[in-house]
Amino acid sequence: MFFSFDGIDGVGKSTQLRLFCEWLTERGTPPVVCRDPGSTALGEQIRGILLASHDSVPMGPRSEMLLYMAARAQLVDEVIRPAAAAGRVVVSDRFLLANIVYQGYAGGIELKAVRSVGEVATGGMAPDCTFLLDMDPVAALARLGRQLDRVEARGEEYRQQLRAGFLTEARVIGPSVHVIDAARSIEAVQQELREIAAGVLG
Ligand code: ADP
Repeated sequence: MFFSFDGIDGVGKSTQLRLFCEWLTERGTPPVVCRDPGSTALGEQIRGILLASHDSVPMGPRSEMLLYMAARAQLVDEVIRPAAAAGRVVVSDRFLLANIVYQGYAGGIELKAVRSVGEVATGGMAPDCTFLLDMDPVAALARLGRQLDRVEARGEEYRQQLRAGFLTEARVIGPSVHVIDAARSIEAVQQELREIAAGVLG
């Protein structure tokens, strides 16, 4: 069983993922936890490249998209597929959905192209259940504890585009994506995730 958490920064992904994994462990199914990009030697190196400042090493949007995909391909082969085959529960912090939204909907790369490269990268491995944590981007950013500077304020339109992209792609993917109102308390959100997961896990 493969769960993923996604959504814009500040919605509470890490917080909810940690509590969710505690719950999985308590109920006797300790999960294999990973982050995308990352969680393999290659993936962590690629993550370093992606998160570094691009001032000295220019990176075009298609190169960026393909680096995310390369990290994900390795993650699927090395971690997710073997764990799933061994009957483990897998929980990933982000997966292909984020790539489609950031590089496709908000980054201008043709959606069809990102989706088909995604199919190659994952070999068809897709989460059984994705929690899309959704809330107003301004409130999510405020949670990160920073004042909006001039550049971030200009970025509001971009973050609204991200939110809309996530919601649209959730509908495209279908019922495996659960849109969660993340503007509530940590406990209320976690409670809903656990109820949904209990249904999925049976
Ligand atoms: P993400 O991983 O999506 O960027 P985090 O889990 O790191 O988000 O949460 C961002 C910040 O918001 C953290 O300081 C966290 O403690 C806080 N936070 C998370 N969930 C909530 C919530 N439901 N209500 C208020 N603050 C929250």
